[in-house]
Amino acid sequence: MRLVVATRNAGKVRELDRLLAAVPGIDVVGLAELGIAETAEEDALEVFDTFEENALAKARWFARLTGDAALADDSGICVDALDGAPGVRSRRFAPVDEARGDRQDEANNRHLLERLAGVPDAARTARYVCAAAVVWPDGRELVRMGACEGVVLHAARGAGGFGYDPLFYLPDEGMTFGELPAARKDELSHRGIAIRAVASALAGG
Ligand code: IMP
Repeated sequence: MRLVVATRNAGKVRELDRLLAAVPGIDVVGLAELGIAETAEEDALEVFDTFEENALAKARWFARLTGDAALADDSGICVDALDGAPGVRSRRFAPVDEARGDRQDEANNRHLLERLAGVPDAARTARYVCAAAVVWPDGRELVRMGACEGVVLHAARGAGGFGYDPLFYLPDEGMTFGELPAARKDELSHRGIAIRAVASALAGG
């Protein structure tokens, strides 16, 4: 089965490529490989308040555009002390319009630390959530969720992963996702859980 991985986020592309490489019978193609340039319409797809709806909107868009089955991931960090924010707005949490990629990640992490200033350790619980959606050109759809619990530290640790990973600490591992080896992040992460559930559904499980 040919599957278009519908994301522009380099960190997600790395992880999804790794996770999907473990699934037999899937031929993964990226948007860059297909020469599909980003458009303003694409940028405006994620308007919903749930991860599921945003993931489905992206997967539907790219299935229509490519004529292939498309997989989209909508994900983010939900922080208890912020009533679940930034949640589906994780990508553009920091109020900086011009920042992209790594600079946006750094700005987001700074903003998260500012918003949590004075919040004690016990109240810094958070979870990463991922909705992974597959949409086929004939209209079939599949969504699976994954979540992963952690704590937001007071300062970054580690240079691995992407996004909020250097701040996201897993007490059982004694490390942040920025410090954990990539293969271990895949075992524990919201994205790993959601993609394995998708793989199992594709295999008829
Ligand atoms: P999306 O591309 O709209 O789904 O936004 C996802 C955003 O959530 C990313 O830009 C990151 O800020 C954050 N995020 C999602 N998953 C992860 C992860 O595994 N590590 C770190 N940050 C993540």
